[in-house]
This record gives sequence, C-alpha cells and structure tokens, in this order.
Amino acid sequence: MSARLPASGLRWAEIIAVGTELLVPPRVDTNSLHITARLNDLGIEVRAKAIVGDRREDLESSLRAALARTTLVVLCGGLGPTDDDLTRDAVAAVLGRSLHEDADVLLRIRRRFEARGARMPEINRRQALVPEGAQVVANAMGTAPGLWITHGDRTILLLPGPPSELKPMLEQVVAERLGPMAGDARLYRRSLFICGRTESEVDEIASPIYSPWLDQAAPVHTTVLTAPAQVELHLSTRDQSAAAAAERLDGAVAALTAAFGADVFSTDGRSLEEALGGLLRERRWRIGVAESCTGGLISSRLTDIPGSSDYVVANAVCYSNASKTSWLGVPEDLIAEHGAVSEPVALAMADGIRARAGTDIGVGVTGIAGPAGGTDSKPVGTVAIAVSTGTVRVVRTFRFPFGRLRVKQFAAQMALDMARRVLVHADPGVAFVAAAPPGAAR
Ligand code: AMP
Ligand code: MG
Repeated sequence: MSARLPASGLRWAEIIAVGTELLVPPRVDTNSLHITARLNDLGIEVRAKAIVGDRREDLESSLRAALARTTLVVLCGGLGPTDDDLTRDAVAAVLGRSLHEDADVLLRIRRRFEARGARMPEINRRQALVPEGAQVVANAMGTAPGLWITHGDRTILLLPGPPSELKPMLEQVVAERLGPMAGDARLYRRSLFICGRTESEVDEIASPIYSPWLDQAAPVHTTVLTAPAQVELHLSTRDQSAAAAAERLDGAVAALTAAFGADVFSTDGRSLEEALGGLLRERRWRIGVAESCTGGLISSRLTDIPGSSDYVVANAVCYSNASKTSWLGVPEDLIAEHGAVSEPVALAMADGIRARAGTDIGVGVTGIAGPAGGTDSKPVGTVAIAVSTGTVRVVRTFRFPFGRLRVKQFAAQMALDMARRVLVHADPGVAFVAAAPPGAAR
C-alpha cells in the first residue's frame, strides 16, 4: 500500500437536522442522507449528525457541541416563518451575532408572494433576518433563504427543510463554495459481500487485517454491516489521486478476500443474485428453482436481474405436498417417510425441477416459515435446501430462529449461495446456521 500523506482541505462535517416532527414516526430525516452523499462526493466525511426538535436551548447546545468538534456544520430545517422556526435565532445567539433585516431578501420574499397574486403575511418578514456577516444562499423554490456563515475557522451552513428547496441550494453551495474549499481529495469506496458467516465471525477474522490500516499515513476505514445472511465490509479511503486510492483499496480487498475465500461473493457491490447470474452466464448454465417455504422469493430475486432470461428457465412454487408430487415428481412415499421438510424431499425437488425445466442446475427449498407448524424435531425455521447438477448433489438443513419473513429471506439467501458455491466448486457445506443445536445462531 502506498504511503501518501492524507490530503488537505475541508475534511469533516456534522449535520444537524432541525424539526420536532422528525423525532416522531412517520417523518424521516432524509435531508442528512442527501447532504452526506454530496459531502462524501467532495471527500468530506460526516463524523456526527443529530436530529434536534424545535427548542432553542437544544439547538444552541447541539450547535455548540458540533462547532467544538468540527469545522463545517450544516443545519437544515427551522428556517420557516413561524414561531417554531428557531434555527436562525439559535445560530445568531451561539455565534454572538445580531440579526438584521436584509432588504434584498425581504424584497425577494415579497415578490414571490406577489407573483402568485398574494400579499406577503407579516410573519414572513422573519425569513429576511440575516445574522451579521452572513452570506445569503438564494432559494429559487421557496421563501426561506439559506445562509453561509464563516466564523473564524468554522463554517456554518443553514438550509431550509423541504428537500425540493434544499437540494438545488446545496448544489449551488457545492459548486461555488464547498467544492473549492474541499480541495482535490475525494473519498473512494469499495465493499466486500460475504455469505456463510455471522457478523462476529467476520469481524474476528477481518479486524486483525483492517485495524493496522487505520494507522497508515493514508488510512483505510472499514465498517461492518449486516443484511439477512449477508455480512458486508465497507472500505473507504481519501486521496487526491484516484489511482493511489484504487491501489490502496485493491490491496485491502485482496487481503480480505484471501482471508474469506469463497465466502466472498462480491467485491463490486453486486448482489448475490447478480453474482450467481454472472456465474451461470459465464458457464452457459441454466437454472430451475423449486420453492416451497420461500414462496417465489428466490425466483423473484433471480429475475430482478436484467438479462436473467438467459439462464432462468422455469421455476415453480409448490406449496402443497400434492403439488410437490404432481409437478415435480417427488415420490409420495418419500414425503410420507421423511416429511415434506426433509433433505430427501429437498433433493427430490431440486432433481425434479431440473428434469422438468431441462436445466443444468436445480434448486429445491422446503421449510417451516412459521409461526405454526413446528415440531420438536423440526422447529419453526427449519429449512432444507438442495442443489443438484445431476452429478453434484448437495443438501443442507438450516435452522433460522427468526420470524416468518426473515426465515424466507434467510432461506432464499442461503439457497442462492449454495447454488453459487456449486458453480465455483466451493465447499457448499459452509453454512450460516448449522442444523443443530436449534437456536444456536443469532
Ligand atoms: P422547515 O424548514 O423546518 O420549516 O421544514 C419544512 C418541511 O421540510 C418539514 O415539514 C418537512 O416536511 C421537511 N423537512 C424538514 N426537515 C427535513 C429533513 N431533515 N428531511 C426531510 N424532510 C425535512
Ligand atoms: Mg420545522
């Protein structure tokens, strides 16, 4: 890995989303996500964000705390005309600046109303109040102007809450002010998607590898995220040179991939169904899936991928025992002897769909999604998954100790992963949750 010095320029930001409505369901603070994405594009990382209700003392203390830590603080919301819009006042108070009415801003607000044939209500005058020394960011979509304030080595940006107003204003600020301040450095990212290990297992293996990267002159940051039966390692690094960042991230990805081997299914953001689809296309193989408890979820995920008609032939949802027999040719005796949720039946389903669809590979999934239907020997969450190519026939029993929808999600994920492992000739025995003991997994 190269030892470039970290790039200079504006590095860190904090975001404060203002509004009591954001503290109760169902309103969601989406502005901070948008702001974060645009800042990241400039190589500026968000180190903290807060949602603060419309209370002056809370706003002031949050802003003080943010300014003590971080050079750029972006506040959004609370710039409206009503009494609960306090951002302007709180910022002016914290910075010790007086507010004055800006004649240009007032004129623009008046004109917005007049253009609609209305008179400006007196309360809108508040929106023309500007802290001493602040620069106004024009709002083409609404009445509340944005404000850009330089305070010593700190910068405070105020933007209105409505996303339709905030977004174009942020673009303008990025182009005219933040871009030049940010310098040439950008944030570069890479991800590794892993199936077949729990989050703690992944971190146990990954942490000795990624921890030293933090102490490098140009660090690589790693975060661990989870999705159903999927653990994601997200890597990021900041650099002025795209090539240097790529070299550093390539090295990091290679080191982690070496440690996780075939458990890594994607290093380029591709989903599991996309990775499997890629392998099927590469080998010119076609697939058929017979689903019971997943109810078509696997089929749906496979066909989410454009061009999947190249390799998906025919899938079947066979929920009843009778349909498993009549559609897939699973012998009635087999179901009677082992039960519908069993490894022999999953294998017979995989072989059955493979024969009927005329595909190279067949997948069979049968399980108990719950909440009813569990027994002592086969509790809710028991799922048998089989993959067959005729010559290679693998089957595993999983126990997913979750609710119905998560059982379906985990089963679909593991089925796609088992098919992937057969295609890469990996050991399909690696499992997220072993058959026994029940409830052992998280
Ligand atoms: P305000 O600028 O506080 O008057 O906010 C006006 C409206 O903008 C609110 O009622 C919300 O609908 C929306 N809004 C405010 N803050 C956010 C936010 N952080 N994310 C998404 N929408 C927001
Ligand atoms: Mg508000």
